[in-house]
Amino acid sequence: MDHASPILILFAICFSPILGTVTALLVIKSATTNGADLKNFWNCNFCSRPLPWKNLIPIYGFISTQGKCHACSQPVNPAYFASEVVTLGIVIVISIAIDAANLKAMLIATSLALFLLGLSIYDFTTHRIPDLLTIPFLLMGLAQCYFFNFTSITDGCLGMIIGAVVAGIVAVLYQSIKKKIGLGWGDVKLIAGLGAWLGLESLPLLIFLSSISGIVFIFLRGIKTGKQVYNDKVPFGPFLCIIGWGLWVFKITS
Ligand SMILES: [Zn+2]
Repeated sequence: MDHASPILILFAICFSPILGTVTALLVIKSATTNGADLKNFWNCNFCSRPLPWKNLIPIYGFISTQGKCHACSQPVNPAYFASEVVTLGIVIVISIAIDAANLKAMLIATSLALFLLGLSIYDFTTHRIPDLLTIPFLLMGLAQCYFFNFTSITDGCLGMIIGAVVAGIVAVLYQSIKKKIGLGWGDVKLIAGLGAWLGLESLPLLIFLSSISGIVFIFLRGIKTGKQVYNDKVPFGPFLCIIGWGLWVFKITS
């Protein structure tokens, strides 16, 4: 397997967090109607003072200021830092796992990761996943089956249909028994889309690992905050996105 040249990898590692900042900025701006969060990228959410330039340096800015405003010590939006770290992780995983000669796979893995990162930030910010994101994602999944054959088109169609039906049944049953929404319809469409990307046989692992990740997240957050947070609403989309992307990269490299 060929790896990209060290200079190229270093360049990608240095500049990828900027891509994370831009992704978070675009998604948070479009997820809010008044653009207030765009202003809050440059200004503190609490005292409205402009943040100093070093706060705006990806990753370093958040760590050096411990995620707090220099003027009032209130926390700055952690979504940007999370997005920058995830983008850095994406670049590292791609440069290690994917053959540098396979440019097609590298480009699709990068595009897929940035799309799912944006979708996750949207879900975390608004607790919903719009059709504007899930329907194109589903169609792109079928298109990559048809044109690139990482997953056969038959397997992709089966993954999409069975994913939608199973997740739909779980959503309806949960709602009728618990009288509240457990799995939203945005999540159902996202599972169908990931089914199209991954194929039928990866679906059980996707659901299992995403659920385990969500439970571990809630558990760790409970320990950190010291509060009973098990009834808090936690978006499931980001866990599906992380595991789905990991499974897709594993599938095309194994
Ligand atoms: Zn402040």
